[in-house]
Amino acid sequence: GKAGGLTVSDPASQAAAASGAARDPASSSALIVGAGIGGLAAGITLRRLGLKVSIWEQAEALAEVGAGLQLSPNATRYLRDLGLLDAIEKVAVVPRALDVRDGRTFDSLAHCEYGPEAARHGAPFLVIHRADLLDVLAAAARDAGCDIRLNTRLQSLEPHGTGMRAVAAEGDSLIAQEADVVIGADGVRSVVREHLGLGVRPVFARRVAYRATIPLRSDTSPDVRLFLGPDAHLVTYPVKAGTAVNVVAIVRQDKPVSRWSEPGDASKVHKAFAGWAPEVRALLEDAPAFLCWGLYDLDPLPRWSQGRVTLLGDAAHAMLPFLAQGAAQAIEDAAVLAQVLGREGISPDALSQYEAIRRPRTARIQLGARRNAGIYHMKGLGRFARNMVIKATGPSLLSR
Ligand code: FAD
Repeated sequence: GKAGGLTVSDPASQAAAASGAARDPASSSALIVGAGIGGLAAGITLRRLGLKVSIWEQAEALAEVGAGLQLSPNATRYLRDLGLLDAIEKVAVVPRALDVRDGRTFDSLAHCEYGPEAARHGAPFLVIHRADLLDVLAAAARDAGCDIRLNTRLQSLEPHGTGMRAVAAEGDSLIAQEADVVIGADGVRSVVREHLGLGVRPVFARRVAYRATIPLRSDTSPDVRLFLGPDAHLVTYPVKAGTAVNVVAIVRQDKPVSRWSEPGDASKVHKAFAGWAPEVRALLEDAPAFLCWGLYDLDPLPRWSQGRVTLLGDAAHAMLPFLAQGAAQAIEDAAVLAQVLGREGISPDALSQYEAIRRPRTARIQLGARRNAGIYHMKGLGRFARNMVIKATGPSLLSR
């Protein structure tokens, strides 16, 4: 049958692919669908196990839109294990502290140095431009021997022998490939997830994110700053080795953004923050242009895998960005997937074990990020109560 343009094979042949003993990674192959942060990270970790790795990416070039990313120590410790931290630290910034303020009054609610957290994990807290992270991951994936095919869009997936057979449109022609394991790292609108028959849809959060990269000003803060306000909030931090500031402004919007991102209307941003502190408004005035992203997440999924197919990153657990953990969790997925396949060999059972480790943690973070939306945007009395709690107990109210 067909689901969303993807061929779904019958249960009998799916069962055939679900059987089969574990295979040695060094004589196995993986097809990864999607060359985002998650897909590239998985390409690197699976190549290190010895698998032959192909990555199919529908876009014509590996490129990220201009925006920043917070990379917490739970992710950077894996990037360090992969030998990528030196390259990343050349383009990233180590922010000094998390600075939480009420965006209307500029009243300081909490100020916490990142040092202790980084020391606990033995890895740094970093902020980086997404394009810079993607460049490092793409170069490392290519160096490791991943075969990255651009302009290649997955069309169908079906069991074939003891593995899977995938078909993609590559420009005007169709190509086919067999693999022992298929990883859907194809983002929040994943077609691999459709193949698994889960029947879930991304949930629009009635919020959008306006993002901008602003040339550095002399008074720019070395901190990650979080400004909370009624129905909106703003996050800023330095990127591009400290030569620019990333700004993310979250505002309510009932009309969904249908594409992943679109040019943002600056007047809407200025209107949403009209009553905010002059310092916040001055920052937004400096933005040369905004991109607008619709915010979508998924309900936690009941399963990620079937037979020799599994999910990773946003395809498995797209989350609202209010804990800044989406990319970090994709990197964790890639690390854990390789750990489990290295230990168990390549088999459906190994994919189930990977999923069993990852699902509870990512579900907790998905729900925590939703909860934060409510706390960040409180109005009236709730806002005053929240501010008092953060002042008294620190920002732990806002963490997972
Ligand atoms: P994606 O980046 O979506 O990549 C999927 C890839 O698959 C794409 O390249 C796509 O073209 C490709 N693809 C899709 N379908 C097909 C197909 N059929 N065939 C071939 N290729 C296909 N995370 C953090 O850790 N820290 C942050 O500070 C942070 N801030 C954020 C702020 C905002 C406003 C938003 C929206 C998100 C933020 N995130 C953050 C989350 C993070 O951006 C995502 O979790 C992360 O990019 C997911 O990576 P991914 O590789 O799983 O998916």
